[in-house]
Amino acid sequence: MIEYYNDETILFIDGNFVKASEAKIDLFGQTLHYGYGVFEGIRSYETVNGIKVFKPRTHFERLQRSCDLMGIPFTYSVEELIQLTYQVLEKNNLSNAYIRPLVFCGPNMELTAPSDVSLMITAWACEQHPNLKQKRICISSFQRPNPKAVTVEAKVCGLYVNSILATTEARRRGFDDGLLLDLNGFVAEGPGANFFYEKDGVVYTPPAKSILPGITRKTVIDVCKELDLPVEEKYFKPEDLFEADSAFFCSTMNEIVAIESVEGQPVAKLWKDSMGALIQETYRNIVLDKSYSYVIV
Ligand code: PMP
Repeated sequence: MIEYYNDETILFIDGNFVKASEAKIDLFGQTLHYGYGVFEGIRSYETVNGIKVFKPRTHFERLQRSCDLMGIPFTYSVEELIQLTYQVLEKNNLSNAYIRPLVFCGPNMELTAPSDVSLMITAWACEQHPNLKQKRICISSFQRPNPKAVTVEAKVCGLYVNSILATTEARRRGFDDGLLLDLNGFVAEGPGANFFYEKDGVVYTPPAKSILPGITRKTVIDVCKELDLPVEEKYFKPEDLFEADSAFFCSTMNEIVAIESVEGQPVAKLWKDSMGALIQETYRNIVLDKSYSYVIV
């Protein structure tokens, strides 16, 4: 079990740095009751150039946009948020960490936008080399939420009920993770990660319609372009994956995670021979601020 905080942990909440064990929230808050809040997941790394938060601007712009889309008033600037994040890391003596900013709302049992909004930023240690175990995934019976029912491009707390249901189902069936489809039966994404697969020298990923368009997904697409690896956004069905050469999930937390099989059907290539493995190595070099030009041959 990950230790998210201990007696020494300091977090930022509404203008103050306080001990996590002493921070208080209101039990009548709208976020606690209705899941109406937004958050981010960000990584920092011990790089060759010191401690670096990876793409902090992009993450905080998404946090601001999530607030906008939800109608949650939010006044912090991106610069302030970045500064606060580095302060949280420093106060907790963290280098390789996962950072969790959460915007949550005060007491309001009406189904209306809030006036009382809080921000907390916390962080916990996160191993530099994430679990490289390959995943055996299944097709979830849960769909991703209909983008006309809720704004899926916002990182909204309540949307994660869907992710928890899918993961719980996958584990009960003996798989590591689930892959969720959209309302038309096309592959969408994992419970907390975007999805790519390789076929005949091209990497495919679903269009940004029924998914959270991840920051890692965008980095992967940029890496493919940089390395001249053909990459395409397209709709595809789960059946197409039974022919896949390789496949992977990607997210800030777990970076690039190899998929071994879909519903028990193994992908064709060994991970080390796949395009995903090259992308994984390149991604790691980018987050660690290392030059990655040597992989371009
Ligand atoms: N989809 C979902 C549902 C997620 O929760 C995440 C993790 N934030 C992602 C995709 C990947 O997004 P990112 O690369 O920005 O972490």
